[in-house]
Parts: sequence; C-alpha cells; structure tokens
Amino acid sequence: MGDLKLTGVTKDFGTARVIHPTDLQIRDGEFTVFVGPSGCGKSTMLRMIAGLEDITSGTLEIDGKKVNDLPPSKRGIAMVFQSYALYPHLNVFENIAFPLRVDRRPEAEVRQKVGAAAEVLKLTERLQHKPGELSGGQRQRVAIGRAIVREPSVFLFDEPLSNLDAALRGEMRVELSRLHAKLANTMIYVTHDQIEAMTMADRIVVLNAGRVEQVGSPLELFHRPVNRFVAGFIGNPN
Ligand code: ADP
Ligand code: MG
Repeated sequence: MGDLKLTGVTKDFGTARVIHPTDLQIRDGEFTVFVGPSGCGKSTMLRMIAGLEDITSGTLEIDGKKVNDLPPSKRGIAMVFQSYALYPHLNVFENIAFPLRVDRRPEAEVRQKVGAAAEVLKLTERLQHKPGELSGGQRQRVAIGRAIVREPSVFLFDEPLSNLDAALRGEMRVELSRLHAKLANTMIYVTHDQIEAMTMADRIVVLNAGRVEQVGSPLELFHRPVNRFVAGFIGNPN
C-alpha cells in the first residue's frame, strides 16, 4: 500500500511560511512529480512526507493512518537524494545491503534482497566493485538499490539526476520509469525540470512559492493550464 493524503499541511521556518495550507492526495502506485522553480518548497514537502522535517500544522496520512508524529523509519518510506552518499570503502553489495545490516537481517535474506535489487538495477556485474570504480549513473543506481532493499511502499526522489550529464539523465529517466513499472509502488519525484516532469509523471503537482498551482496529468497541464504560471512553466504560453 502507498496512499498518501495531506490535509491543510503548512510549514513555517521561524516566522517565514514556506508551505501554505496544502491539500493533496496521492494514490497507491502513482508516479507523481512535484515540479516548480528553485525555492518553491519541493524539498520541504518531500522532507515533511519522509518525516525529516516537522509539519507545522495539518495532517499527513499514509494508508489512512495519521503519521505526523511517526519517525522516518516507521513510515514505510525510502528517500533518494541528489547527493547520494555511498560508503567509498564498501563494495556495491555492502553499500546496497547497508540498511539490512543495520537491521541485523539474516545473511540469506541479505543475499536474496541485494541480488534482486541488483538485477532490477543492472548492477549484478558490479557487486564486488567499489563506488570509485563506477560511473555516475551506476553510483546513482546503487543509492536507489539501497532504498529498494527496504521494500518501502513509498519512494521519494529529490532531484536524483541533477548531478548527471544530459545523456545519462535521459537514460536514467527511462530506467526509473521501468523501475516504477516493475515495483508498482508509489513514487514521488521532485524536479525543477519540466521535461522530466512531462515524460515521467502519471500526475504532476505544480508548486509555486509554497502553494500548489495545479494537479493533473501531463496532458491536462499542457492543454488546460489553470493560470499563466502553469502555462508558462509547462511550456505552452497560449
Ligand atoms: P526547493 O526544493 O523547491 O528548491 P525548498 O523546499 O528547499 O525549495 O525551500 C523552500 C523555502 O524554504 C525556501 O525559501 C528556502 O529558503 C526555505 N527553507 C528551506 N529549508 C529551510 C530551513 N531549514 N530553514 C529556513 N528556511 C528554509
Ligand atoms: Mg530542493
């Protein structure tokens, strides 16, 4: 399961309100993209959902249960960041296995889960390599593998491709879509890149200055933008 519901969610940093009251529903299995200019609140939204940042007011529910006060590890969520911190002295296998080692899972389970994740991510041939011997795209896949082995019902990605070059970004977009098709879980993907949003999303949430401007499919936003901001941002200025 991976249904998410935000009701009247706000976020203040000191006296600054960075997320205005937000209602949002994300259905199990959807690939949702949060898109908007730098500073509009995308990372803050994701961090509140992950539990890395307190919600100032409002309610966050996962599968119908209020989780405002649940720690990140109890939410069934895994987050992949832009700057993925791999352990340079550990090989790919142990980097992916890390969360399972922390949980003291039995060796047979570790092998099975790391093997399965490596296969999905096409890293089977790289399991004995160190991060320093991998390409940028392979390193990013290791970071995703580390999230997969925790079998989260919700995956959060915060601009995971922005440090990669354009060719690799294109390739990783396709791979992430394939991963979503295979895992069929809820994914929320944050980007400031309209092309990423348009090509990857089932649904797009357009954010601007801490508010949701519009929610819809890529085609809906393109053909029926509700205002000039969405029209300009999605690239159909008429
Ligand atoms: P985005 O990810 O869309 O670029 P962020 O969510 O990082 O935007 O930031 C939204 C707003 O909140 C920005 O104005 C940013 O300066 C502010 N902000 C983010 N984190 C903090 C923080 N820890 N303390 C104070 N202000 C913050
Ligand atoms: Mg951000």
